[in-house]
Amino acid sequence: MLIRKIGIDLGTCNSLVFVPGKGVVLREPSVVAVALEENRILAVGEEAKEMTGRTPDTIRVHRPLRDGVIADFRVTQAMLKYFIDKVSGFWRFLKPEIVMGVPAGITSTERRAVIEAALNAGARQIYLAKEPILAAIGADIPINSSSGNMIVDIGGGTSEIAVISLGGIVSCHSLRIGGDEMDLAISDYIKRKYNLAVGEQTAEDIKIKIGTALPEKEERKLEIRGRDLAVGLPKTIRVSSSEMAEATSDILAEIIQAIKTVLRETPAELSADIIDKGMILSGGGSLLRNIAEKISQETGVPCFLAEESMLCVVKGTGVVLENLEAYKKSIMSKK
Ligand code: ADP
Ligand code: MG
Repeated sequence: MLIRKIGIDLGTCNSLVFVPGKGVVLREPSVVAVALEENRILAVGEEAKEMTGRTPDTIRVHRPLRDGVIADFRVTQAMLKYFIDKVSGFWRFLKPEIVMGVPAGITSTERRAVIEAALNAGARQIYLAKEPILAAIGADIPINSSSGNMIVDIGGGTSEIAVISLGGIVSCHSLRIGGDEMDLAISDYIKRKYNLAVGEQTAEDIKIKIGTALPEKEERKLEIRGRDLAVGLPKTIRVSSSEMAEATSDILAEIIQAIKTVLRETPAELSADIIDKGMILSGGGSLLRNIAEKISQETGVPCFLAEESMLCVVKGTGVVLENLEAYKKSIMSKK
């Protein structure tokens, strides 16, 4: 019998879908725009993200997974259905088997909500796997070997740090902070220093264009627009990369603190492996310039950015889909 299989990385910022034989077929923001009066979904993904901060009172833009778990069940379900339908095309009538990543620190109630949402959205069967494991598989780390491997996935709303050996998580820490908080820290910094209000999108833009974890020799500058809080009118200012390093330093310190905690909780044999091989960074937040250098300076452990770091988790779902039997141990639950 023909069984359709798809892998989904339902992230707090971005959702990606993997289809065996085709690769990553969908990559869209986890954003939904709802018309409040009729309670109707207006747009999902890229189209909805473009509305952020620009809507009238009658439209609300949701990020239903903001903190890594389902904050708004109905909207999440609708979003999942949209993504599944979009990649299904002609095969829409065949319900797919789905492998999906969830944060390692998720509670059983949160897990049940994900399973429910996926089944209601049209899954025939759903397998959940822990995101750090998927990220490690997607980063080509041999997770089933007896050697210790450390993965740090920095997403939008969450960061997950895990040490993996023999296919399982030995120690881990999930933080409900990530790239979103860096954006917030940037807009707070600009508000404090320049008395200028900048939107969420602008703050993210600044981070991507000139953000850095360490001050650089070659200072980068960027002209930004916002609203002057004193007079209420639009205003343009110039900010620099070293200011952005200062703005985001507290968030990075929190992530680094969690990395140190996980290192401390790791058995000595595995620590030795990690010092030898270094830790691997994945997720969009790891694209912040110089973040690997910063983490390795602070922890004394070498640190490397995974190839295509934003795709690691979804590529991991693809590998698991194709070898469900072999990865049974790393899969948490099924329904
Ligand atoms: P999630 O898995 O939570 O959906 P992602 O792995 O997709 O998150 O990462 C999204 C985060 O990565 C966002 O906060 C985004 O701003 C950030 N990001 C993406 N590209 C860059 C970049 N070049 N520099 C810094 N941050 C980035
Ligand atoms: Mg992610």
